[in-house]
Amino acid sequence: MSREQLSNGLARLAALARQDDWRAGEVEGLTPTQADILRALIQRPEGLRVTALAAHLNVTQPTASDAATALERKGLVEKLADPGDGRALVLRITRRGRALGRRWPLSFGALVDALSEEDQARLLGIVTRAIYELQHRGDISPQRMCLSCRYFAPNVHRDQTRPHHCRFIDAPLGEGDLRVDCADHEEAQAA
Ligand code: SF4
Repeated sequence: MSREQLSNGLARLAALARQDDWRAGEVEGLTPTQADILRALIQRPEGLRVTALAAHLNVTQPTASDAATALERKGLVEKLADPGDGRALVLRITRRGRALGRRWPLSFGALVDALSEEDQARLLGIVTRAIYELQHRGDISPQRMCLSCRYFAPNVHRDQTRPHHCRFIDAPLGEGDLRVDCADHEEAQAA
């Protein structure tokens, strides 16, 4: 196995995804970071502080703040007082922002579409484990994912297509069902 070849392959895919993101953004006048913010806020109707948003997207706070200001100017997000702390502000997506975010093309959509359903499920499992590992090393901020969730029970079923279980929805999960960003996630206690 060549680490270099794998690394080169991933770099090509990342370049294509970046190119697709910029191309999609040209039509609506959004940068990839602004599109990422819309995607993140769609999953969080209660809103999110800029610091949390910057951590989630792995960008600096000024970058997130500039992108949020541009989105606010376009009427796609609004800044509101945080109900938990009147001195702080949360960013919330507007109806227009939600409509735009919902029709926004998926990042890495070309790669996903090029794979069979089986390979998509396998790759989701690999990506999920990679993010979890990088999260442990401190390279990626904590994500609301199955592998770190108190409701996740790994490898508890004999069915190899759905070996895991989510105790929140009380249903078995296969690799293709794993969530990277789940609204029902609750962080598991560290062992
Ligand atoms: S609640 Fe969400 S993140 Fe947690 S195990 Fe279930 S599907 Fe996964």
